[in-house]
Amino acid sequence: MTTNRRALLGAGLCMTAAFASRAGLGAMPAQTPVQVQGCEWPAASGELRQYACDWLPVAGALGDDGDDRAAASRDFGNIVQRPPRAVVKPASATDISSALRAAGRSGQKVAARGQGHSTYGRAMAEGGVVIDMSGLNAIHRIGADHIVVDAGATWERVLEATLAHGLTPPVLTNYLGLSVGGTIAVGGIGGSTSRHGMQTDHVLELDIVTGSGEPLTCSRGSNADLFDAARAGLAQCGLITRATLKLVRAPERVRRYQLFYQDLASLAVDQRRALQADRFDQLQGAILPDGKSGWRYQLEGALFYGKASPPDDNTVFASLSGNRETAVVTDLTYHDDALAFAKLEALLRSKGHWSNPHPWLFTFLPNVNAEQLADEILGRLSGEDIGQLGRVTFYPLRTRASGTPLVRWPEGGVAFCCNIVHMPASADPAQVDRLLANNRLIYDRVVDAGGVLYPVSALPMTPQDWEHHFGPAWPKLRQARRRYDPLGLLTPGYNLF
Ligand SMILES: Cc1cc2nc3c(=O)[nH]c(=O)nc-3n(C[C@H](O)[C@H](O)[C@H](O)COP(=O)(O)OP(=O)(O)OC[C@H]3O[C@@H](n4cnc5c(N)ncnc54)[C@H](O)[C@@H]3O)c2cc1C
Repeated sequence: MTTNRRALLGAGLCMTAAFASRAGLGAMPAQTPVQVQGCEWPAASGELRQYACDWLPVAGALGDDGDDRAAASRDFGNIVQRPPRAVVKPASATDISSALRAAGRSGQKVAARGQGHSTYGRAMAEGGVVIDMSGLNAIHRIGADHIVVDAGATWERVLEATLAHGLTPPVLTNYLGLSVGGTIAVGGIGGSTSRHGMQTDHVLELDIVTGSGEPLTCSRGSNADLFDAARAGLAQCGLITRATLKLVRAPERVRRYQLFYQDLASLAVDQRRALQADRFDQLQGAILPDGKSGWRYQLEGALFYGKASPPDDNTVFASLSGNRETAVVTDLTYHDDALAFAKLEALLRSKGHWSNPHPWLFTFLPNVNAEQLADEILGRLSGEDIGQLGRVTFYPLRTRASGTPLVRWPEGGVAFCCNIVHMPASADPAQVDRLLANNRLIYDRVVDAGGVLYPVSALPMTPQDWEHHFGPAWPKLRQARRRYDPLGLLTPGYNLF
């Protein structure tokens, strides 16, 4: 942001503050729309017209040009489009605080945007303000067991910085192009979750600007209610500006095993066996489209090792029933393994599939009926729906490793991840509508059977759905929302309240 823009922001905010305290305004009442300096405002009285003029220097100063607004009105899902009135590009937490206070005075909805990899408008604020966090990405400090980083940094940036010290976050997402704030808002699951929980379990401290614009630091020991509401709380109480994250020693190398199975039942038997025996450092798996109507079943396990000799493949294969002849073993540095998704990203981009709609649905299935539910889900899908490069991830994990209050799990200590990763070859709107309707049917069936949503999914949710989703954790989240975002400005895209 230029100095002029910054000065204009300051001036704009001061004017807005002065006017708002004079007028004692909260949300603007809905009246006849009025055009002010090219923007349409939903009110026509002289007082409100003045109010709109007071706000405009802020919005106009902060990157509300067409490109910024167009980018903020879309996301990776490419299903919904909700243009904001303005995009704010903060250079500090103070900018965010000022923007939230100004938004509060005009009753404008606000959403943070990390890297925009949501799939259903969760980082959008239609007619409101999007705060683009991507510029707030500094690494502040790396200690022997922690890193202090701005929330707009990607996990790739975090990993590059920590590996230089031989350290890593205990849990990395499969894709590292996501922002720290964006995954803390939802949970952050990865191959190591079974051992180490979610990324939210390794947050030591957060700097947050609440919905009221108040900057607060929180941790388990200080402002704990805000700390608990911010981790996996879908950004309903505040925007994360800085995070202190736990680090552990990074392994040097990763030996990865892919084994293939004839059917889902055999895959699940081996996955459970591997989980019970703690066979792998990372255990995942997937169901892949195979021709028009068939599926292939794949177990993926990874073992970490250091300077000592690599793990013995025979020992690994002896403990599993998957087809050894077709098994694939790869051996990479920890860094290259963590960044492996980037190759798929490049391929998807080169084929144009990265920008097609992605009606993904991620649920956690109960261990007791995981295969039955997965079978039913597959019965509702074709290989064409998933796409040649798509998959349904399917693997068990231990839920007790995670203690984040707002991360929801099925009962029983073990759950199966089931993520329908649609990578369609076309952008056909009729197909998207059908798959969204399908998502709802699948979601209802999974919830009825004791499963839960991982809230990175593409489906419309009502406040009642969310209340059911959060279950016993709902009253605390609602209380925190009332306390920290009393005007209800933040993150309308989830439709929680
Ligand atoms: C290719 C791909 C791979 C993925 N892999 C994984 C995976 O392995 N594991 C996993 O858990 N998830 C995965 N996801 C889902 C992903 O974690 C979520 O969609 C995540 O929210 C996206 O992060 P982002 O930075 O792009 O956030 P955005 O889409 O920009 O925002 C997501 C949500 O977080 C909020 N938010 C963003 N920044 C902040 C902030 N600083 N403070 C408060 N709220 C904020 C936004 O308002 C929005 O509600 C994947 C998604 C994609 C597209």
